[in-house]
Amino acid sequence: MTRKLLILGGTTEGRRLAERLAGDPGFDATLSLAGRTSLPAPQPLPVRTGGFGGARGLADYIEREGVAALVVATHPYAATIADNAARAAEMTGIPALRWLRPAWTAEPGDRWSEHPSLEALADAIGLEPRRVFVTTGRQGAQAFLRAPQHRYWFRSVDPIDPPPNLPDATVWLDRGPYDLESEIALMQRHGIDVLVTKNSGGDATRAKLEAARRLGLGVLLVARPLKPPMPHVETLDAVLAWLDHGFGPKERGE
Ligand code: NAP
Repeated sequence: MTRKLLILGGTTEGRRLAERLAGDPGFDATLSLAGRTSLPAPQPLPVRTGGFGGARGLADYIEREGVAALVVATHPYAATIADNAARAAEMTGIPALRWLRPAWTAEPGDRWSEHPSLEALADAIGLEPRRVFVTTGRQGAQAFLRAPQHRYWFRSVDPIDPPPNLPDATVWLDRGPYDLESEIALMQRHGIDVLVTKNSGGDATRAKLEAARRLGLGVLLVARPLKPPMPHVETLDAVLAWLDHGFGPKERGE
């Protein structure tokens, strides 16, 4: 029997799951993207793009399309869609699973501090002018307007619109993965002394943390959002096991 599956993606995880399910006769899977990226990469599964219109809109989509289960493979910091998914799954009574990549953890030599919001983080950079490398994405760049004394470099996949109205800011458009040597060279070339990042986890952007450790730089991390009430797993194998067990209870609560 073919089961209809909706994967909420926009991440490496969404793509990896799509690759595994493409051509699998057991599933009729669709990948959902928010439509934020101007040049989305081709995907191996049918794609639908754009918001659903909140939890109710997602629930309507699930009912209309006869979706049997939901895999939430969105970014750890995409909090609204994960909350909406949890509520829509509850409204429609379908099983839902979150694939959440593990957070990075500090190692000896790291000088990390974690902050509850980007605004709190911007305040924590301090009064003294610093040379700040911001890698938290284009959303939220405006939080740094409250600390205009610093020299900023923002790295973002897509342009920051409107550009941050700061006296001394440069926006680099780039997309990972990044390697250690180039991250060290970049930070040295621009005399960076503070790195700002989400705790995204995963390998694609991890090199900046090792670069900061080697250079002895301070790293300010914005804390992960709270997890919505939904079972979660951390690996592709665990997602596949959940699917293979008929969205069964085996991995629930992991
Ligand atoms: P968000 O704040 O959690 O969601 C905002 C709204 O965007 C949602 O309410 C929903 O609109 C729509 N949306 C988000 N993800 C969607 C999806 N996969 N399919 C359809 N609609 C979606 O999300 P965000 O932080 O803006 O992230 C947007 C997308 O970029 C996500 O797919 C995420 O995985 C990806 N991404 C995010 C980050 C990050 O740092 N936040 C980093 C890398 C990739 P409606 O309410 O209208 O349904």
